Amino acid sequence: MTKLSELGEFGLIDRLASKVGRGKEVIKGIGDDCAVLDGDDFYTLLTTDMLVSGDHFNRDWQTPRQIGWKSMVANVSDIAAMGGYPLWALVSLALPDDVDVEYLDSIYDGMISASEKYKMEIIGGDTTHGDILVINIVIIGRVEKDNLCLRSGAKIGDKICVTGDLGKSWAGLDLLRAGVDGYTDYHLEPSCRLEEGRVLAPHVNAMIDVSDGLSSEVMHICKQSGTGAVIDKDKIPVSSRTREAADKLDKDPYQWALSGGEDFELVFTIPESKIEAVSDVPYVIVGDITEKGTYLLEGKQKKELSGGYDHFRL
Ligand SMILES: [Mg+2]
Repeated sequence: MTKLSELGEFGLIDRLASKVGRGKEVIKGIGDDCAVLDGDDFYTLLTTDMLVSGDHFNRDWQTPRQIGWKSMVANVSDIAAMGGYPLWALVSLALPDDVDVEYLDSIYDGMISASEKYKMEIIGGDTTHGDILVINIVIIGRVEKDNLCLRSGAKIGDKICVTGDLGKSWAGLDLLRAGVDGYTDYHLEPSCRLEEGRVLAPHVNAMIDVSDGLSSEVMHICKQSGTGAVIDKDKIPVSSRTREAADKLDKDPYQWALSGGEDFELVFTIPESKIEAVSDVPYVIVGDITEKGTYLLEGKQKKELSGGYDHFRL
């Protein structure tokens, strides 16, 4: 018997990907932020995320409204990473005995607010009973064929950029876990970079959202593109609020940025010559796409990048 933790989350995904998704209308199956299906005028994007109480959210410090909001944002972020826009959502819930009607209403209020913000609509789903609260969301979106951004498009020489500061979500989570006061708003009510993704899409070579930490997102791009990368630690944007949290908790804020996740910023690679075309979007250059090997530059030292958050290796 092989334990799931031996394969790890990404090994498991590779194993499953090798078995499915080879139809001729499947432009991209498992292995990107969304599945991509062919169509006449545009590609259809499909993404799904399952959120489990205790693993992905904590009912002790997240209100039901916040849980609903964040579940939706996490999925929209995957649509943003493809350069597309969301249209419809299906929401399935496993509900334990201690979830009452008012609690459920609040989860839905959060989901509906996020749907309004990102101009999409919940059109269906499923409800069932379960031992703990589980939320599964499917989002259906679209992208113009010319605008599709895959993880696999990075080219040697591209600059690696991020749309905002990193580590902010995990900083909040660690403050909440420790019961220490500080900035937790972003962890509780994050947003994603949908509009920015639309602006970036015509210009970038590869794109992914930060759900598991910069390190793991860059490694995904490199694996799919057949390239390497060097990230310059000094260039990773970390806000003063995140540094404050790190000071309070005696933690390394760069560890949060590299391996925490849930920041829902976009990581993209772009030729230097095209950077000016995306100047309407906030971005910071954090590294370069290279021929091979994935490294973190710390001063003059070059270390191997290590993986981000893995749900099977806690
Ligand atoms: Mg993603």
